[in-house]
Amino acid sequence: KQRGKANWVRFAAGMEKPAQAHAQLGGDLRRALNAGEFKLVYQPIVDLRTGRITGVEALARWIHPERGMVSPADFIPAAERSGLIVPLGRWVLRETCRQAAAWLERFGPEALEKAAPNVSIRQLHDPDFVADVRAALADSGLPPNRLVLELTESAVLRGHQVLRVLHELHEMGVRLALDDFGTGESSLSLLRAFPAAVVKLDKSFVDNIELDEPDSAAAGARQAVARAVVQLADALGLATVAEGIENQEQVERLLKLGYTVGQGYHLGRPVSSEEFTARLLDQRQRVPLVA
Ligand code: C2E
Ligand code: MG
Ligand code: MG
Ligand code: MG
Repeated sequence: KQRGKANWVRFAAGMEKPAQAHAQLGGDLRRALNAGEFKLVYQPIVDLRTGRITGVEALARWIHPERGMVSPADFIPAAERSGLIVPLGRWVLRETCRQAAAWLERFGPEALEKAAPNVSIRQLHDPDFVADVRAALADSGLPPNRLVLELTESAVLRGHQVLRVLHELHEMGVRLALDDFGTGESSLSLLRAFPAAVVKLDKSFVDNIELDEPDSAAAGARQAVARAVVQLADALGLATVAEGIENQEQVERLLKLGYTVGQGYHLGRPVSSEEFTARLLDQRQRVPLVA
């Protein structure tokens, strides 16, 4: 907490006009966290062959009293700059574990294999992070192998201290996913040092992947990257998730390329915990699990 404050002051010192808006947002975020204005929405991660839910990603939302729903694309960067991402991320982690444990208890381990909150690189630099993860798991009763931490690939992930934290989490049994895979600068070298279990193919490679235009180099390149990523993941023993699937043609194409798990509006939009519960209920009724 002290550190967050120190960072805040350092930031405020060199402040420019546009940064001032961010600073205001940063202050507002602190108030919002205390006032309980954040909530999580849940997006299914689905087996492309059967349509069954295999996992869920938790995504933060800010319900602002005047501005309404604020996108994480706006408030996560502000939270990272102000340091508030540490307490906010801690809340996301605890809430995801609590909710996932409740779903597991109600629907059983086959109905929902894992739950995935997003974790900011800033949180990995917090000295309490590993202890926070351990406590979130212990307090909720969620088994460590049911938790997948989504990290955006970044050069920063290669720092020695961060890699040590990632290996500690790995040893604890927690899984790590490389989010937005393919958009970073160091995919291959990073994968070798990083104890990842999952790579999430970025939406930008899924967009238009269904189009077959012999004259379109871009469409061909997307398919080539998607194929290369799944082959690399297979070779390294990693699972894959294709992100941002918006139609059935993309599902068919991704299946042909070797993907078996995906996520996107076509398979399910991010929804409230109540709506996600309803979807799990519906799945249980329509697709009885084989013992
Ligand atoms: P992400 O982790 O890659 O999450 C996927 C984003 O793509 C989500 O946007 C989701 O709603 C959106 N999405 C999913 N399927 C589709 C689709 O088929 N089409 C389109 N157009 N979009 C789709 P969202 O919820 O706005 O989150 C944006 C980003 O904000 C996330 O990207 C993640 O990097 C960050 N974020 C969200 N919640 C948290 C959080 O609790 N902590 C941290 N550190 N970052 C978060
Ligand atoms: Mg994510
Ligand atoms: Mg993603
Ligand atoms: Mg993303």
